[in-house]
Amino acid sequence: MSVQSESVTDTGPEQTVGYTLHGNRYLNITNRCTLRCAFCPRFNDEWTVQEYPLRLRRDPSFEEIVLAVGNPEEYQEIVFCGLGEPTLRLYTLLEVATRLRPHARRIRINTDGLANFVYGRDVTPDMEGLIDALSISLNAQNAEIYNRHCRPKLPGSYEAMLDFVKVAREFVPDITLTAIDGLSGVNIPACKKIAQELGVKFRRRVLDVVG
Ligand code: SF4
Repeated sequence: MSVQSESVTDTGPEQTVGYTLHGNRYLNITNRCTLRCAFCPRFNDEWTVQEYPLRLRRDPSFEEIVLAVGNPEEYQEIVFCGLGEPTLRLYTLLEVATRLRPHARRIRINTDGLANFVYGRDVTPDMEGLIDALSISLNAQNAEIYNRHCRPKLPGSYEAMLDFVKVAREFVPDITLTAIDGLSGVNIPACKKIAQELGVKFRRRVLDVVG
């Protein structure tokens, strides 16, 4: 493994809660997910991302996550991510963000945008003043292609994700939709157009590259 030991915080063997890439601190707060993406490393028995082993034996506690950050001032960004869907731990996430807020330069969530669907309410007001940015997986230009690649557990997930983007715009200042270039049927210009129409940013992703 070619990771630098000082950039990884373990709470036990192979329990990587925090890792550093590009000057950002990424927080692996759950392996659970609302989606079952065919391209997900989890479904290809690959629990490593950029050579970091991200399989969790259990979800880390609030204290373990805060410990995994260390000094937030050292990073450009603190990013709640996975390998899994971080908003499945929304309340712990918000608690950690509240603790970090006075010292963090920027706090982002990488999400599938299904939190409102999962919690049955609009959770985006909870993010106001705490979360600077959302990176939301659009993943496709329509529900058919989305369902083919992301295999959502909940029917109507694509529409729910788009609704999440619309309401989140009021409470989170910086929103970026992402899609992975190279997946069959995914039309990157069409995905970019959806983002433009929603008045948010777009980023083309490359498979297996965290950002
Ligand atoms: S949203 Fe991310 S963690 Fe969840 S299944 Fe898809 S690729 Fe994997």
